[in-house]
Amino acid sequence: MVESGKSSSASINPFEVALTQLDEAAKLIKLDSGLHKVLASPKRVLIVSIPVKMDNGRIEVFTGFRSQHNDARGPYKGGIRYHPQVSIDEVKALSMWMTWKCAVADIPYGGGKGGIICNPKQMSEGELERMTRRYAYGIADIIGPRTDIPAPDVYTGGKEMAWIMDTYSALKGNFVQPEIITGKPIALGGSLGRNEATGRGLSITVREAAKKLKINLKQATVAVQGFGNAGQFASQLVQDQGAKVVAASDSKGGVFNKAGMDVIALRKHKEKTGSVTGFSGAKAISNEEVLETDCTLLIPAALENQITAKNAGKVKAKIVAEAANGPTTPDGDDVLYKNKIMVIPDILANGGGVTVSYFEWLQNLRREYWSESEVNERLDKNITKAFLDVYDTHEKYGVNMRKASTVLAVNRVVEAVQMRGLWP
Ligand code: NAD
Repeated sequence: MVESGKSSSASINPFEVALTQLDEAAKLIKLDSGLHKVLASPKRVLIVSIPVKMDNGRIEVFTGFRSQHNDARGPYKGGIRYHPQVSIDEVKALSMWMTWKCAVADIPYGGGKGGIICNPKQMSEGELERMTRRYAYGIADIIGPRTDIPAPDVYTGGKEMAWIMDTYSALKGNFVQPEIITGKPIALGGSLGRNEATGRGLSITVREAAKKLKINLKQATVAVQGFGNAGQFASQLVQDQGAKVVAASDSKGGVFNKAGMDVIALRKHKEKTGSVTGFSGAKAISNEEVLETDCTLLIPAALENQITAKNAGKVKAKIVAEAANGPTTPDGDDVLYKNKIMVIPDILANGGGVTVSYFEWLQNLRREYWSESEVNERLDKNITKAFLDVYDTHEKYGVNMRKASTVLAVNRVVEAVQMRGLWP
């Protein structure tokens, strides 16, 4: 468990995982070794020291990062994470995955990611605001509406995005610049549909995968690890297609009910009590058991390195749709593939979030407001195409969906890098 800091999986270095995935794709497409080197490291990683006056009057110094992996296809794009286990390698890996994700979704962005090593659950609202503003000040010179557009990630949301937008706007000309960041509250130029977008995108990829595998979603059962923003909407929108959610968990534990649990009632329970645990009619299970639930669809929606060579053999689902970034290690992936489980990889399955972030940015640049149905229709069109592009690549190269999505992305990015050339 990343949150408790007790799991051995926390020792798996996500950047090494990302490099292994790149190596595999490079081999398949016979990528030139020089271009491979260009893609293997971020263009820039900024480390900032963030002094914050805490409520007790003392100064605490936090460390923050912003990694800018590649901008050949457009400005860097990616979230900002607040978590005690944020590290430079995690941020670098996540920024590389963002480059691939934007390329798979075929939106004109590169990849970036940021984070602060902190425990936001133990900080007051005032401390969080001061830390967020000081971090925004620290990275202000390398972000911008046409250069690098941040967004929310684990334990950040609309509130933090509003503070960053306000700080950036005040620093850079003192006029409102909503297009500097996405995932904002609606009142500040956020997009309708953004909250649900990651889950909605995932449910669209599941719909398309079920068609390919001839699975009837009305008879499907679902287990979701990590009942947060992405996990809740993903399971609700899969439930809307007729599937039954039988298991769910969060950092405090898991619940199981063979007869199915109503996702909306489960969300209300979590809002009231702070956890899915104790949901009426369900029995308590561990986070490990959630992953091993006998079900049709497994949605890992928490943090990295949850499905590894150790437990992948116990996964019984027919489809694993990754809402989280990097929840499966490469050796875990091999086991799932051998067991004929279709993995809809993170950079495809959770691409709905960044796709609607792109729609938000477009609305902000044009000072427009789109209706929710317009956002959802465009999202459906984009994600369906992304799924079919990856599926075609999987058939063309005879590789699993993860390798196919990385191959598709690397090909698209390499094309842009080569066309732009090296200068100076
Ligand atoms: P969130 O903070 O809303 O939810 C995370 C959930 O995971 C929480 O309910 C938390 O209790 C739970 N959790 C933490 N550790 C756990 C553990 N060890 N076992 C089980 N549950 C645990 O965050 P989110 O925005 O839903 O993000 C979740 C994942 O999805 C992250 O990997 C994130 O990068 C990815 N993602 C999110 C979005 C988005 O738009 N929200 C987009 C793309 C990818």
